[in-house]
Amino acid sequence: MQLRYSFRVYPSAGQRSALARAFGCARVVFNDALRVREEARAAGLPFVTSAELSKHLTAVKKTPERAWLGEVSAVILQQSLRDLDTAYRNFFDGLKGKRPRMGAPRLKSKRDNRQSIRFTANAAWRITPGGKLRLPKIGDLKVKWSRTLPSTPTTVTVVRDAAGRYFASFVVETDASEVLPETTPEVGIDLGLGHFAVLSDGTKADSPRFLRRAEKRLKKTQRALSRTEKGSRNRNKARLKVARAHARVADARREFHHHLSTRIIRENQAVAVEDLAVKGLARTRLAKSVHDAGWSAFVTMLEYKAARYGRTFVKIGWFEPTSQVCSRCGVKDGPKPLNVREWTCKECGAVLDRDINAAVNIAKAAGLAVSACGAQVRPGLVPAPRSAAGTHPKRPTQPVWEQAGIPGL
Ligand SMILES: [Zn+2]
Repeated sequence: MQLRYSFRVYPSAGQRSALARAFGCARVVFNDALRVREEARAAGLPFVTSAELSKHLTAVKKTPERAWLGEVSAVILQQSLRDLDTAYRNFFDGLKGKRPRMGAPRLKSKRDNRQSIRFTANAAWRITPGGKLRLPKIGDLKVKWSRTLPSTPTTVTVVRDAAGRYFASFVVETDASEVLPETTPEVGIDLGLGHFAVLSDGTKADSPRFLRRAEKRLKKTQRALSRTEKGSRNRNKARLKVARAHARVADARREFHHHLSTRIIRENQAVAVEDLAVKGLARTRLAKSVHDAGWSAFVTMLEYKAARYGRTFVKIGWFEPTSQVCSRCGVKDGPKPLNVREWTCKECGAVLDRDINAAVNIAKAAGLAVSACGAQVRPGLVPAPRSAAGTHPKRPTQPVWEQAGIPGL
């Protein structure tokens, strides 16, 4: 399977202007090709093929108006045409109902927040022995290698984001050598309203402190932006600050998702989640969770990591009233208001934690082997023997990493 690895890069001033030139050329080629296709369509002519576009590009590079396209690697320009093809394919597939509908390809603007160029294997790019990223006609870029690449990457995309930061995103083919040794636990995950995720083993995972802090800072910069005057210099400065804060939140959130998903996949042989679309339907009348946006990214990570490390990943694609059924005896005793976090099953007497109960039900619906007597779904209180009378039933202790945030894996 293919995996993507992103690293921050720090181009010098000269390299930044070379990159800006490359972004510009890629954009012009994309837009020219889009116009050629749209003009043909408007004139009732057949769809212009990729081969024709490629020929058109070669011819255009020889004209004085577009001669500067020769200043950047030809691979970037070819890749730009391929990106346009992908945009068209996605658009047509959406019309045919093969995937969610999306808009027709649009012209790219200089003012777009995200600029990118892609180098494929046949471009002469490489990672130097000194650990720099050598790009044709741009130079040797300094990279912050935060992880090691599992194998030699096939393509690299260089991105400049809204906050003005640069990233190199590598596509790497992985093999079966990464499959983890088998383990026994199997787990269901409830993506809940209160916590980010609750596991059937009783673990409740929440945003770590560094993410909450980044979110707080973002809110502050947004407030500062709204106080500035339109068109003023301060407004532009404030806008850049908001973009930076946004980027920091996105990074922190991604890191949290990576840690949590890696941990769950390492510790469990099988993982079950509810399909988010189904979950959304079931919750239309409930409050939207602050975590909604993050869940799909997180579930995607679980899915690819499961595939990569040889674990089972199951998505429950049908609606299960997970919070209405006792995970111990299976009796369904109707919906409960949201403020009911814990209740006692009238049938078997089990004391059920709303979220953990839901997570156990998800695991069961997926056919996983979980015990209903997980950490907090505990059997009802039995009359204590005389000697023990007066002591409180012990509440199970929470895993440490719930309170302390999640340590690095
Ligand atoms: Zn019960």
